Amino acid sequence: MKTSFFPILPFLLISLFKPLTCLSAQGEKIVVRIAIADDREEVQLALKGKYKMYDINLNKIIMEGPYMNAKVRATKDAGLQFGKKEIKSDGVKIKVARDSNIYVDNRRFRGDIDIIRKENSKLMVINHIGLDDYLYGVLYHEVSHRWPIESIKAQAIAARTFALYQALQNRNKPYDLRSDIYSQVYGGRTSEKWSTTRAVNLTKGKVLAHNGELLPAYYHATCGGHTEDASNLWKIDLPPLDGVRCNFCVHSPHYKWVKEIPLWKVEKNLSDNGYKTGSISSCRIVSRNKFGRVDKLQIKDDTGMSVLLTGKDFRQIIGPNDIRSTKFEAAVKRGNLVVEGFGWGHGVGMCQWGAFGMSRRGKRAEEILKFYYPGAEITSIDKV
Ligand SMILES: [Zn+2]
Repeated sequence: MKTSFFPILPFLLISLFKPLTCLSAQGEKIVVRIAIADDREEVQLALKGKYKMYDINLNKIIMEGPYMNAKVRATKDAGLQFGKKEIKSDGVKIKVARDSNIYVDNRRFRGDIDIIRKENSKLMVINHIGLDDYLYGVLYHEVSHRWPIESIKAQAIAARTFALYQALQNRNKPYDLRSDIYSQVYGGRTSEKWSTTRAVNLTKGKVLAHNGELLPAYYHATCGGHTEDASNLWKIDLPPLDGVRCNFCVHSPHYKWVKEIPLWKVEKNLSDNGYKTGSISSCRIVSRNKFGRVDKLQIKDDTGMSVLLTGKDFRQIIGPNDIRSTKFEAAVKRGNLVVEGFGWGHGVGMCQWGAFGMSRRGKRAEEILKFYYPGAEITSIDKV
């Protein structure tokens, strides 16, 4: 938090228990809740500078000081343990003074930190942080900070829109976004770079909308020639999330890839997901969608039994980092499943390497976004 610590304590106490994601009041700082650790036996917490720790349920200070460096664990009897000190609480909120720092597992974070003991006696850590402060810690993980500024600005607007959309969707859940690839990768203050911070500041308050409503602004690394209709993957059918032909990502390192996966591993992964097979003998693409992505594929074993899978399920079962997209050919060769494909990611919305290619050709952030989200408007947060 950029405001001073102690003078605003009354406000903080009021805000502790009100919904932390709100878009209502114009000009009010929008706070998002990021799960930065989950289902953990232990986290390393370091507080360098003045801090106050509140019981999350009782709204009461239970610890304060100038410094802490401790391993945090759940105790056996419904409490939390900070180093050797035990507290009778199943959750704490930690706030630090303006010039102090919070480190969780050696990463530095802005904002407040909640450490919550879950019913399974494991820990969840949630970072409450202003939206743009959050974006400062996201962009470095999503694009290279050495890319042209217009491509980073396009990414900032897409990431801001995506975060807000998720915050609205998850209002009644314990957090809005995760800090891993399932939401947007977020590394906290440790991940901030000069150019990515500049892109967030240059696009302040700008989001993508369609018909006045916030757009679920999905994006991905590389489309491999054509982006995908969102309606092919999820229950979303919006014109800005329809596929577009992309000639801008051909120089991406992810444009074309080959992966050889041992058949025993394919058999194991299929079996782990409820698809029992014998020794796999063939793999055939049965159908593709209009953009060339695999709709269905059939895997046969040496007894003639076969399994029919969607391309999307196949990618999840084998592993989304091995099968980088659903735009691929697959064949059984010498004990391996050989998969040759194009692009990385689900393919919906902005192609990040395509945005980079467009910016290299002099296109501005607005042009990039209007190309990948056809019919979308770039508007102010206050107007959605
Ligand atoms: Zn592309």
